[in-house]
Amino acid sequence: MQVKRIRDLIKEGQIQVIDTEKGFTIRDLTSGYMKDSDDGYTTDSVFGFDGKLNIRPSYQRNSVYSQPKRDAVIETVLEDCPLNTIYFVDKEDGTFEVLDGQQRILSICKYISGEFAVASDVFPTDLPQDFQNLVFNMHDISDKIMDYELEVYVCKGTPSEKLKWFHRINTCGEPLNEQELRNSSYTGKWLSDAKARFSSKNGRGVILADTNPNNGASEPLLNGSWNRQEYLETALLWAARHEGFTGKNAIEEYMLKHCKDNDASALWQYFSCVLEWVRSKFTTYNKTMKGLDWGAVYEDYTKGAFDNNIIHKSADEINKDIINLMSDDEITAKMKGIVMYIIYGDERYLQLRQFEEKIARIVYEKQKHKCPFCVKDGNNKEYAFKEMQADHVKPWSKGGKTIEENCQMLCSFHNNQKGNIW
Ligand SMILES: [Zn+2]
Repeated sequence: MQVKRIRDLIKEGQIQVIDTEKGFTIRDLTSGYMKDSDDGYTTDSVFGFDGKLNIRPSYQRNSVYSQPKRDAVIETVLEDCPLNTIYFVDKEDGTFEVLDGQQRILSICKYISGEFAVASDVFPTDLPQDFQNLVFNMHDISDKIMDYELEVYVCKGTPSEKLKWFHRINTCGEPLNEQELRNSSYTGKWLSDAKARFSSKNGRGVILADTNPNNGASEPLLNGSWNRQEYLETALLWAARHEGFTGKNAIEEYMLKHCKDNDASALWQYFSCVLEWVRSKFTTYNKTMKGLDWGAVYEDYTKGAFDNNIIHKSADEINKDIINLMSDDEITAKMKGIVMYIIYGDERYLQLRQFEEKIARIVYEKQKHKCPFCVKDGNNKEYAFKEMQADHVKPWSKGGKTIEENCQMLCSFHNNQKGNIW
């Protein structure tokens, strides 16, 4: 791996810029900048430096700079303070791509092309100024901006050296997350298609995850954000599990298997199966449904794991059951617990009203401090009151109520073991 300052490469005549004395300036960077269509709708590349610099190579994320961060970049330039080092990769065909500094570069390009204005002490008034205005009215300032020299290092090396370097420089600054790093290793047609579906605002996967197609309402089901590759990560995790990859490298294994595919339609198909199933079961949305591991739920459902649970019923029946559960005064669970109970059938999710201590003590004395299950096993041990737990003899789900007649005191072993069996 060779890393050189761009200034030295300019001096050696290896890189041509507008003014050799000034180094690599914003004028060079933004020359021929294609007005960025980076509104989140696209994952296309963006070019600067007369088409020689690929500002957003396919393994990079879409723009995630917030407005204050974006403005801070411009203020730094206006005040003639140094920005952090930017790294380019020399593609060795006369072109370069940005390895680190994409967000800073895009902020600069967008400012120069007039997409936003900033306020600064440098201006005679506090009013935010856009660049076009500066060119007309304060061209000394606009010239100074264009002549601002960027500190750039240019790296040359094999793909694996490049990747290693990429990991290293990303440990400072705004780090890439796991999925963004994975994307850098599996570039190609398949990844581009996967990103078009799951990492762009109009991707079908993003729309299905955020919007209920049956009513057009905003009903998000996934955690994270699509532009940080987190929707893609979820889709990959589910599809990987479906194909039997379960370890901690499941996503890498799936990507390795599929990265040479022509497109990501298999990934899309499984993902849409899962979410369409969720939408078909829960017709009344509540926000606790956001971020559940629906892939795991769907996988268990199709394998018959929930055959006796409410989730097997039709959407209308499920809806009625939810309403009934919500109005039952013995249930103190939040909506999340109710959804989990509908799926898993385990009434511990419902946080049923507890037996009052008075009742528990009466039953404890009636049982002579013994656990009826232990007694059945021939163990007549007497427990302290604190070692025992009050339990519904007839489970709540089978109509058992939270009253003395339906209370038994169990040792913690048998209370845990009993679960839902009756
Ligand atoms: Zn026991």
